[in-house]
Amino acid sequence: MSENLNPFKVAQTQFDEAAERLGLEPAMRTLLRWPRREYSFTIPVKMDDGSSQVFHGYRVQYNDARGPTKGGLRWHPEETIDTVRALAAWMTWKTAVVDIPLGGGKGGVTCDPKKLSEGEKERLARGWVRAVARELGEHRDVPAPDVYTTPQIMAWMMDEFETIVGRSHPAVITGKPLPLGGSQGRNDATARGGVYTVREACAALDIDPGGAYAIQGFGNAGQFAALLHRQVLGGGKLVAVSDTSGGIYQPDGFDPEEIIDYKKKNGKVAGFPGTQPISNEELLELEVNVLYPSALENVITAENAGRIKARISCELANGPTTPEADEILFKNGVHVIPDFLANAGGVTVSYFEQVQGTYNYYWPLEQIHTSLDAHMTRAYQEVRQLQQEMNVHPRLAAYLVSVTRVAEAVKLRGWV
Ligand code: NAD
Repeated sequence: MSENLNPFKVAQTQFDEAAERLGLEPAMRTLLRWPRREYSFTIPVKMDDGSSQVFHGYRVQYNDARGPTKGGLRWHPEETIDTVRALAAWMTWKTAVVDIPLGGGKGGVTCDPKKLSEGEKERLARGWVRAVARELGEHRDVPAPDVYTTPQIMAWMMDEFETIVGRSHPAVITGKPLPLGGSQGRNDATARGGVYTVREACAALDIDPGGAYAIQGFGNAGQFAALLHRQVLGGGKLVAVSDTSGGIYQPDGFDPEEIIDYKKKNGKVAGFPGTQPISNEELLELEVNVLYPSALENVITAENAGRIKARISCELANGPTTPEADEILFKNGVHVIPDFLANAGGVTVSYFEQVQGTYNYYWPLEQIHTSLDAHMTRAYQEVRQLQQEMNVHPRLAAYLVSVTRVAEAVKLRGWV
């Protein structure tokens, strides 16, 4: 039978495995298997040519037992309610694994932002906020950027919200530009957090941090991972990167900064001089010490998992590996740092931004880095310890940590 690649089904299957291990009672299982609230709405937007277009928008508040829901907004042509549900579930487990006092949520708009002008994006951003403003706020639900949404979009959204409520409210949204209450260190936080976990994994597994690494997806997460891997680990040879245009490969390694410049100028990595082309699929199968899947879901499946040769797969993307693939990778000794642990640096610094916005007092960059490192290192070590104790694959270990924490909060509240 072929695998079910619906991301929400994947998220539920992963949860079910953890619920079974923990022996959760039926009511608790049902509660944690589904979003608590979800909103699905239309957003009419006046286009530059004078026409009107109607977009579909979403917000899912998956679970708020541990605190206000928190999670990014994706603007993507293939966005569906099930993608948003899955990402909201993963946000719930993510905030729990790094032990920050927040729940999980996610939102999005089905659209192709590459085809929208700046003015159309602004009207879409403001329209999204108007549709759900009554559900937002630092004590309710706090959005942030995700795929194809930017600090500028967060700025328009904050402005719209403040206009509606009639007062300053910087903690309503995170990932804002610095002059509007953004946090130092938010731009590279996802990649930085992931690289901290790779540092810990290399030490735990005695893997040379100076070896080869490859990155699938070369946006915010992928580009910063390219740079920070070498900075934080003190070495490493970047041999391949890819984006939607395809990939490039150079076994002797290349300079991440030069590729970032090239992508800025050309809009893609393909064609970078001195490299050979490689497909996105081939990149995943390279013999490297560290692979960073940093694009989208379901790229490592039962079909190709047996050919993955990386020693560590640090999942900066959400949902890159299917449940069947997890079992294969575990059997083959590929150490997966699961998405909701590996990429939790983004929400952790978003949480710092929310705290700073609430107090209207801002921290220096060093404080952000030190606190982020402490959260990520502790989370990695807790998951690793449980993984070894129970001899389960790392994603299941991470689920066991997170689901236990969320279930405890649900119990203490007396919900079930
Ligand atoms: P982004 O939009 O900045 O970059 C995405 C990159 O992936 C682009 O380079 C794009 O060309 C590439 N891409 C898209 N489809 C691809 C495909 N099929 N094959 C290869 N490359 C492809 O997005 P981002 O913020 O870097 O997010 C990437 C992943 O990381 C997503 O799964 C996102 O949910 C996750 N993530 C991001 C953050 C964050 O703070 N940015 C936080 C947590 C998780």
